Amino acid sequence: MAVMQEIETKLNKGISVSSNEEIYIALLNLVKEKAQAKTVSYEGGQEGKKKLYYISAEFLIGKLLSNNLINLGIYDEVKKTLQENGKSLAEIEEIELEPSLGNGGLGRLAACFIDSIATLGLNGDGVGLNYHFGLFKQVFENNLQLETPNPWITPESWLTKTEKVYPVDFGGFTAWSVMYDIDVIGYNNRTTKLHLFDIQTIDETIVGDTINFDKDEIKNNLTLFLYPDDSDEKGRLLRVYQQYFMVSNAARLVIEEAKAKGSNLHDLADYAAVQINDTHPSMVIPELIRLLQVEGILMDEAIEIVSKVCAYTNHTILAEALEKWPIDYINKVAPQLMPIIRELDNKVRATVSDESTYIIQNNLVHMAHMDIHYGHSVNGVAYLHTEILKNSELNNFYRLYPEKFNNKTNGITFRRWLMACNPELSDLITELIGDGWKTDADELEKLGAYVNNEKILTRLNAIKHEKKVELADYLKKTQGLEMSADSIFDIQVKRLHEYKRQQLNVLYAIHKYFEIKAGKKPTTPITLIFGAKAAPAYIIAKDIIHAILCLQQVINNDPEVSPYLKVFMVENYNVTLGEKMYPAANISEQISLASKEASGTGNMKFMLNGAVTLGTSDGANVEIAELVGADNIYVFGEDSQTVIDRYERGDYCSRDYYEKDEYIKRAVDFIVSDEMLNAGSRENLERLYNELLSKDWFMTFPDFKDYVATKEKAYSDYENKKEWAEKMLVNISKAGFFSSDRTIRQYNEDIWKL
Ligand SMILES: *Cc1c(COP(=O)(O)O)cnc(C)c1O
Repeated sequence: MAVMQEIETKLNKGISVSSNEEIYIALLNLVKEKAQAKTVSYEGGQEGKKKLYYISAEFLIGKLLSNNLINLGIYDEVKKTLQENGKSLAEIEEIELEPSLGNGGLGRLAACFIDSIATLGLNGDGVGLNYHFGLFKQVFENNLQLETPNPWITPESWLTKTEKVYPVDFGGFTAWSVMYDIDVIGYNNRTTKLHLFDIQTIDETIVGDTINFDKDEIKNNLTLFLYPDDSDEKGRLLRVYQQYFMVSNAARLVIEEAKAKGSNLHDLADYAAVQINDTHPSMVIPELIRLLQVEGILMDEAIEIVSKVCAYTNHTILAEALEKWPIDYINKVAPQLMPIIRELDNKVRATVSDESTYIIQNNLVHMAHMDIHYGHSVNGVAYLHTEILKNSELNNFYRLYPEKFNNKTNGITFRRWLMACNPELSDLITELIGDGWKTDADELEKLGAYVNNEKILTRLNAIKHEKKVELADYLKKTQGLEMSADSIFDIQVKRLHEYKRQQLNVLYAIHKYFEIKAGKKPTTPITLIFGAKAAPAYIIAKDIIHAILCLQQVINNDPEVSPYLKVFMVENYNVTLGEKMYPAANISEQISLASKEASGTGNMKFMLNGAVTLGTSDGANVEIAELVGADNIYVFGEDSQTVIDRYERGDYCSRDYYEKDEYIKRAVDFIVSDEMLNAGSRENLERLYNELLSKDWFMTFPDFKDYVATKEKAYSDYENKKEWAEKMLVNISKAGFFSSDRTIRQYNEDIWKL
């Protein structure tokens, strides 16, 4: 049946006389039906014996309609049909709410991975939690971040309620879960599932206009929010409740599905692979051991089986992010796990002399230690990150288990981050090299043949300009921000964290403001665009947002400066906004302190869309630099070893730099200038000023000078339109390595073996 008829059958009337809401629901249900038809079953003989369970506390999936239409191969037809009936797919997409089931990169990675798993036809599902209000929706008021609930579950949504329910035993009470599924449709391939567990007794009415709620009633609040504020004890306990709830359900699902396929559980590793995405799902190890014991398997064998099933991905070397839970918490939340965790610790103590690797230390359970001792694989997420794990952060473990350590450089799905968000570029690529790149991303290399083709370079520039106009229009319409597409779009979008160093970019903005005041005007005007959410309890991060918003007010309203420089902070940066921002960027800001960004994936999205990276030698930037060559990337700053040594010596003193460098002093002082204080709050601005002067833990000052010089070089190179377009083309042509299809193939070959 033609798509037109299919939609109208769902609507029970003509498309042209239906509302956008009605059409959205019709498309949603049509996609769900088509996804269902692509689901394969074990009974049907199409699903393999072994299955992967990718367990993650976050899946930052973004809106699903367009991507699902693309992956089903009916996007163009639907778009055209709607157009012919006077409707716009873009407007219909606006109706869909974006679920904020993740913080940032880690959750977005999990979303890219499940897309690639389905696209490669692999037998693997995602497992996570169904947070009703997500992380939070960011709102700016008085130049400050406020957090409000971000509801996304509507009567008709991508969620499908399943029959599956499990009892989960917490200390002192039992709660019943219910499993919801979201279809994950592979590109021209099968459908797999994202299983999101919810608690049956959830009570949305305890949430008002803020993200504060009664944290005591676990039965009513467990799945309301992702990562409730962990600055207080109740918030931290709730995180442990969430984690145990997630993995207890996951473990039951693993065992139930294996048994249904004929496993006697002694052979569980032939039926199941579990990937532990960061330490949030670590309790799946003792939980699986516990369930195997319930099934009659003895402890020692259960441990051996689970070790063959589980593998761990490390995402960070920031010490504060490696979870350690007090024994008291686990005794309260899931007392049945503690004897198992103690046994796991005792076995380590009996055989390993290096005490730093023990699981229980000072009454804290080190989740990563449990993962490394009792998983069969430990992977980092970019070459440099894995090397740092092996050689410094986890060196004590690497010496015990060198064979467990491996690298899996992150990737992104090109369906969402090129085909869906930049159809103009996608079409140009296909026109030039055919559409083989859509399933074999390495074919993008063929674009290399066009680096000297002026006609193609001109078209590339035209597409970039069009995407800038689109972004400018969208931000004007939705947020009232006014920017000119004729300026350089220099974009930094990512979570707000001191290690990512938005504050370094802020110092540059102030520096440039002074330079322009002194008459040094840039040839092409510059637009610095930020987007970032800060964790609600992360004070300095929120102060940095405040400083950016104040700067936006000061600079954009200064008639001497604003024709040449503007600063914008977009509100509520999320996947939907990302899809409009990555394609519109000229310069991709990747300026983390070297050694601190495990990989980054935003850097890959920018590159794929023809932005040129301005970054430190950190995370996957290192691999980008190697692929594109020194002429096609701007690298600055101290390298990771210098930084690591500096921390080891502990002799960094930011005030020395401040006193010796007049430009640093001028920029830092401006944070507490009258102009800024007029725009903002003294408390916040002074706290940031003092933090930089007395600590600057992520060492912005030593990199400042090189950052300014390198950025100026990039801006001046931008003036040569043809050479800049060559850089864009080289970046696009070398981006194939960063397809998450490649990453997932490697996970499967080295770790899961499906
Ligand atoms: C890709 C992405 C991220 C990760 O960005 P990094 O620059 O790698 O930190 C965060 N948030 C959203 C919405 C993204 O799409």
